[in-house]
Amino acid sequence: MKLFELNESSVRSYCRSFPVVFDQARGAELITRDGKSYIDFLGGAGTLNYGHNHPVLKEALLDYIDNDGITHGLDMYSDAKERFLETFSRLILKPRGMHDYVMQFTGPTGTNAVEAALKLARKVTGRSNIISFTNGFHGCSIGALAATGNQHHRGAAGVPLTDVSRMPYANYFGDKVNTIGMMDKLLGDPSSGIDKPAAVIVEVVQGEGGLNAASAEWVRKLEKLCRKHGMLLIVDDIQAGCGRTGSFFSFEEMGIKPDMITLSKSLSGFGLPFAMVLLRKELDQWKPGEHNGTFRGNNHAFVTATAAIEHFWRDDQFAKSVRAKGKRIADGMNKIVRRYGPYSLFIKGRGMMIGISCPDGDSAAAICRHAFEHGLVIETSGAHSEVVKCLCPLIISEAQIDKAMTILDAAFAAVMSEQTANQASQAS
Ligand SMILES: *Cc1c(COP(=O)(O)O)cnc(C)c1O
Repeated sequence: MKLFELNESSVRSYCRSFPVVFDQARGAELITRDGKSYIDFLGGAGTLNYGHNHPVLKEALLDYIDNDGITHGLDMYSDAKERFLETFSRLILKPRGMHDYVMQFTGPTGTNAVEAALKLARKVTGRSNIISFTNGFHGCSIGALAATGNQHHRGAAGVPLTDVSRMPYANYFGDKVNTIGMMDKLLGDPSSGIDKPAAVIVEVVQGEGGLNAASAEWVRKLEKLCRKHGMLLIVDDIQAGCGRTGSFFSFEEMGIKPDMITLSKSLSGFGLPFAMVLLRKELDQWKPGEHNGTFRGNNHAFVTATAAIEHFWRDDQFAKSVRAKGKRIADGMNKIVRRYGPYSLFIKGRGMMIGISCPDGDSAAAICRHAFEHGLVIETSGAHSEVVKCLCPLIISEAQIDKAMTILDAAFAAVMSEQTANQASQAS
């Protein structure tokens, strides 16, 4: 570990939770240099929905490189880009009735796509304010960071984070408070102090914010609110998209039509950097090169993304399997909740984006530590890092899920019984 500690900036983070040197990975398995194997419930924070080194994607990429395919070509036309555009349009957009979207390739990370979407919303509407939500996470570059809630990240900005109004997410004040009604009142009152927003940016399931899942009804009402007040609706599907919740887009079964959708993380399918904004054609008011970036459209990512869409999204078998595995994980988690903390633990999230909310961040961290010692890589999320979060590859086997659940069960047993014992000794 010394070499990393001496040479790499202290900004490094995940490696602190998992202080081993990883060398190989296949499917839902990570293997260290010393040959120790772990089940991967972190999944590149949602980047490895199709697992590590999926053989079909790997072969497509190896063939492409072997054939001297273009690696970097700015945003010039390439065969790989053409095939991606055609495939994404044919297998993702058209079957979902989304004929009228165009694809903007931004710099290759999620925050780039968010910056582009916010910039375009402001340009098109001539308004500067953006509405984002409590516990939302949209990235760490300044524009996206302004829309992000997390104080740890915001604190590093060094400049005022402006032109964003924060509103309470679905159920932020519990299920009795109608946060859409609240927003409607604030936006309709010329003296509320909330400037008319260009857009609302929302995660349908909040990934970093603790797996808060908005109901279909809330999301539909939010869309109506956007139409009423002339705000664009941007769905940030960077983490919840690409199949994670049991459909390609997280909002698919909610019957809404966002003005823009940001995608990244699992879009390349292979863990390669790649990001895109889907935008309604009539919003495409960019002048050529007005927003750019050297790495717009990574050709290797085009190749693996195309292969992933061809392989997984031809029919609904894969989506069905995600829903079934999501249920299997939820069943396992329900057992844990019933056994170790029917009053203090509860399940959050949707599909294969689910986790267990613990009494506090310390117990969640202790549970993840215990799980790691027994062969499971798993992390927390949430305002107090209190949610033990399952983000395993969607291609994980049932046997691997069951094994992971056994490890998690033992971790909860160890940590929760310790807590109960501490509480008992404090009480006596
Ligand atoms: C990860 C994430 C981002 C930022 O993506 P980066 O590639 O880390 O810049 C933005 N929005 C959501 C919802 C994310 O989960």
